[in-house]
Amino acid sequence: MAGPDLDELVGRAREGRPRAVARLISLVEDASPAVAEVARRLTPHTGHARVIGLTGPPGVGKSTSTSMLLTALRAAGQRVGVLAIDPSSPFSGGALLGDRIRMTEHATDPGVFIRSMATRGHLGGLSWATPQAVRVLDAAGFDVVLIETVGVGQSEVDVVKLADTTVVLLAPGAGDGIQAAKAGVLEIADVFVVNKSDREGAEATVHDLKQMISLSRRERRGASWRQPIVRTVASKAEGAEEVVEALDAHHAWLTAHGELTRRRTARARGEVEAIALRRLHAELTDLHHGDRLSELAARVVTRELDPFTAAAELVADLKQ
Ligand code: GDP
Repeated sequence: MAGPDLDELVGRAREGRPRAVARLISLVEDASPAVAEVARRLTPHTGHARVIGLTGPPGVGKSTSTSMLLTALRAAGQRVGVLAIDPSSPFSGGALLGDRIRMTEHATDPGVFIRSMATRGHLGGLSWATPQAVRVLDAAGFDVVLIETVGVGQSEVDVVKLADTTVVLLAPGAGDGIQAAKAGVLEIADVFVVNKSDREGAEATVHDLKQMISLSRRERRGASWRQPIVRTVASKAEGAEEVVEALDAHHAWLTAHGELTRRRTARARGEVEAIALRRLHAELTDLHHGDRLSELAARVVTRELDPFTAAAELVADLKQ
């Protein structure tokens, strides 16, 4: 994409125009070479958005809760961008949350932008793409960016590292609490939401969670933030205000303790690293090194070289 076109696109995105925002996020998804230029132009206009991660097992009510939160945040005058991410899927779109919500009450609201994203199997796909998409939404003037991931596992843990505040959703039954603790989600949660509190067993889930929190607090000595547990019935929009209050309280805590800067620095580290790794990988696999790699591989097969020495030679080539 030529400079003037990009200028216009970036300008329109900064005005918050949904089509321009969508096009920039498509560039990110496609890992377009233009993304570097986009990021360069957008970066001075970022830093305003609060980035909130939301995760939990399938069926717990993430989609319903996101919709509920959108309503509450919009009522408070906030513009909200939603990135729905499925780390396990190589495709975007489909039956992900974004598409379901898009068709509902928020569809025509210009203060809401919803997008599903997938990794398409790129190296470091999610850790590379997600911060770039967040940057687009931030520069487009969204006050809140909600990053939603499906499931509870390592890739979700990685994605929520991108957030200022992480919300973990659980529901009564099915041992979700235990499951979450195993996956290390307990450590990353800033706010717990026990959704489907209209169901039997909500009390027990809250109780289990409290126990797990107090156990993990002992290990995390010095952490002054007490992870609140908020009960919701997302399907009836019950508990929305309490969730928003918990999010606000956490944001105030982050700011007061210098934790916001610390988290954003950690995020920038991950981002720079992902970009650098991707670049190194591209250099390693370009034509020249591709040939070099074949030559080294042949020498490994004839046992002239061991693979470690061969790899060291390849890396030494990169440094030249
Ligand atoms: P997701 O897979 O985590 O995004 O979950 P969904 O938001 O799609 O919700 C899964 C199902 O649970 C849907 O049928 C919702 O209507 C239902 N659901 C969501 N929240 C609640 C709730 O608070 N109470 C009850 N009883 N059902 C809910």
